[in-house]
Amino acid sequence: MSGPDRTIGLIWAQTPEGVIGFENTIPWRVPEDMANFKAVTMGHPVVMGRRTWDSLPPRFRPLDGRRNIVVTRQSDWSAEGAERAGSLPEAMAMSTPGTVWIAGGGEIYRAAMDFATDLLVTEVDTTVDGDAYAPLIGPEWHAVEPAQWRESTTGLRFRIRHYIRHRSD
Ligand code: NAP
Repeated sequence: MSGPDRTIGLIWAQTPEGVIGFENTIPWRVPEDMANFKAVTMGHPVVMGRRTWDSLPPRFRPLDGRRNIVVTRQSDWSAEGAERAGSLPEAMAMSTPGTVWIAGGGEIYRAAMDFATDLLVTEVDTTVDGDAYAPLIGPEWHAVEPAQWRESTTGLRFRIRHYIRHRSD
């Protein structure tokens, strides 16, 4: 699914314990991270699971300026502004060529880790209850640049780390 000219990025925000969501919402507020998500994904197709689509506030969906590809097993699912994909490989085929961003949630990130080329991970320094978790970032990944901790206007500390896959050659 990936190729020399294909960037398949996973983008998420997590706590140090790996929480990404609770009761189908993101249990913290870091507006700077939302702005970064928008800037990074703008102009590229965004792939998400049906539960993540449902979690978006109606005024924010579809995400503007981007194709919104929603993965669901429900053959009759549709929503205005969304394109349905019956599987992750189908979503990858629909979004080729060029850069695609996979925007969650937990189930979709885990399934996409095997073929992702880049991870853009915001670490949010907070402790919250969770029921959706980030995938494990194994030794095949390395952070490409030092990431500075910043303080959000909401008072939370966060930093954005970019990982790429170790080359096998
Ligand atoms: P999800 O990954 O968003 O969506 C799961 C749904 O995707 C499944 O119920 C199914 O939809 C569909 N799906 C999954 N695998 C599939 C496959 N192989 N083929 C076809 N369809 C497939 O759900 P989640 O793991 O519960 O994650 C949602 C949570 O993550 C929420 O709390 C959300 O706020 C959070 N989130 C956090 C971030 C972050 O950066 N912190 C980002 C995104 C989401 P159907 O049931 O319709 O078949």
